[in-house]
Amino acid sequence: MKYRFIKCFLLVLCAVFLCAGCAQTQEPAATEAPVVEEVKPAETAAPEEIAEAEEKAELPPPPDIDINSWEYLYAGVSQGVGRYHPEIGVWEMQYMDIRCIDETAAFMQAARDAGHTVWINSAYRNWDYRLFWFEKYIYEYGSAYEAAKHTFPSGCSDHHTGLGFCITDESNLHGDYNERYDLDIQDTEVYDWMVEHCTEYGFILRYPAGHEDCYGMACKNAGHFRYVGQEAAEYITENNICFEEFLALYEE
Ligand SMILES: [Zn+2]
Repeated sequence: MKYRFIKCFLLVLCAVFLCAGCAQTQEPAATEAPVVEEVKPAETAAPEEIAEAEEKAELPPPPDIDINSWEYLYAGVSQGVGRYHPEIGVWEMQYMDIRCIDETAAFMQAARDAGHTVWINSAYRNWDYRLFWFEKYIYEYGSAYEAAKHTFPSGCSDHHTGLGFCITDESNLHGDYNERYDLDIQDTEVYDWMVEHCTEYGFILRYPAGHEDCYGMACKNAGHFRYVGQEAAEYITENNICFEEFLALYEE
């Protein structure tokens, strides 16, 4: 009888423990479920993607232009211009498409009038010039695939359009002009001035920081300006988009 009572007592005790156990396991399960639901959307939809989508949705209508006109000629990693050869004009021994040579000269002169020392250190480059550099990169990086991560193949550089140039604040005559060719130019006053005033002359910053995914490689030509005409330049700059994103607005 005594044992029966103890057995009964143990059974009740077990039941109490089991119920307590159930309650314990159920409790976190009940709280875990909503936490997972809350975390999941934040993890799958990147906030920058949402912001980007919202920003694009808010873009005003793009200018009513003929996107196939020469000002919008595109050369980049996804599409080249082959052996395209524009009619060339010359400004201070630098070659540009003759149709934007006046704007180029006016832009550069305005910067100098504002008290800045500025030079173009690289403008129109043809197929063979780029081939020389691309082959040099293939030798350095081991394959064309790797080389293309660092420089443009022939026909794919914006320089090939004859509508873009890189600036420097060192004179070409000193022979050391390449020192300001890369990202260092961003730390100069002349760069700030050129960025602030480029749209007045129909130019844009061709490789703005933060848009590397669009133009396909790390931005090495920070001081590269590109002629697109005043209307497009204003739209691109005001809406903080790059040339690739601008062209995409006209895709059907
Ligand atoms: Zn350049």
